[in-house]
Amino acid sequence: MSGLVALSVSIGVLGAVATYLALGPLAGFLLIWAAFIGWGTFFSTGGDTAALKKTISCNVFGVVCAWVMAMLVLATPLSGLGTAGVAIAVGLTVLGLCLAAHISALDAIPASVFGYAATAGYLLQTPGALDADALTGASFGNALILVSVSMIVGALFGLASGKLAGVLTGSKKYSGGCEHIHTYSDSDPIDNHTCHCSVCKGVTGQDTTHVVFFNHNDLVVDHLDQLKRQPFNANNPDGPLELCTCSTCGTPIMLDDKENRIRVIVPNLMGYNTESLPATYHAFYDPSTGDSKPADGRPVYEGLRPDFVWPKSG
Ligand SMILES: [Zn+2]
Ligand SMILES: [Zn+2]
Repeated sequence: MSGLVALSVSIGVLGAVATYLALGPLAGFLLIWAAFIGWGTFFSTGGDTAALKKTISCNVFGVVCAWVMAMLVLATPLSGLGTAGVAIAVGLTVLGLCLAAHISALDAIPASVFGYAATAGYLLQTPGALDADALTGASFGNALILVSVSMIVGALFGLASGKLAGVLTGSKKYSGGCEHIHTYSDSDPIDNHTCHCSVCKGVTGQDTTHVVFFNHNDLVVDHLDQLKRQPFNANNPDGPLELCTCSTCGTPIMLDDKENRIRVIVPNLMGYNTESLPATYHAFYDPSTGDSKPADGRPVYEGLRPDFVWPKSG
């Protein structure tokens, strides 16, 4: 099944489930339209675990800002100013909503706006909702609770729909290889750097090499028997790393570790999507080579990052 078909089936099925719950057993506790906004936010912020956190923090923050706006209108001197008072309350809270993007958990401003707009819409369209008693009550009659919970549930459905689509396609989080040998991992790498060392330079012919370490057990290879192994560092043939290439077509597949601690992928040479695995720092930068120090804002170290811990030998 293709990725789009799988995601469509997954969202169709789970969308029906969510709608049944919201209109049936969970009526009054779950607004289906707010859930769908949370669901959409999840995919628009990246559709992964980080996106789930971002969706929840920003959607709920937007709900809170709209709630503050309503309380300003209802319970402060702004209430005496009529339309101008509402405009001022919206202006102040939207200013706060955007300024809060200085905090990384709240920096997806569109996601915050979705929460704000959904709440404002609910308050304006629902009889009795825009009322100080309702807005301060500890019940699902309070928009603060009802819209927040609905959007969180929607984001969780988003995560579930992404996972179900992954199951339907059999897709792996990261994958590569050649047409004969496939490698993949469903776990995130344990290190991801731009390597400046001379061995990488010599082997890849690239000035710098984007290098990704996976835990040895996380990176799966479907045809280990078809790999041709050679020392990664020709000057140190007894070193732990072996360059594994396809014995049929010669494509580099991975670096394997004789001590079974890690497996190493060079994304651009080994069939991986480079963008899904961005390097976080520069490693093995040696000023004596005369190369200018990288200035892209990522940390630069003369070895691996100091806090890197080698996994135990397996
Ligand atoms: Zn290197
Ligand atoms: Zn091959």
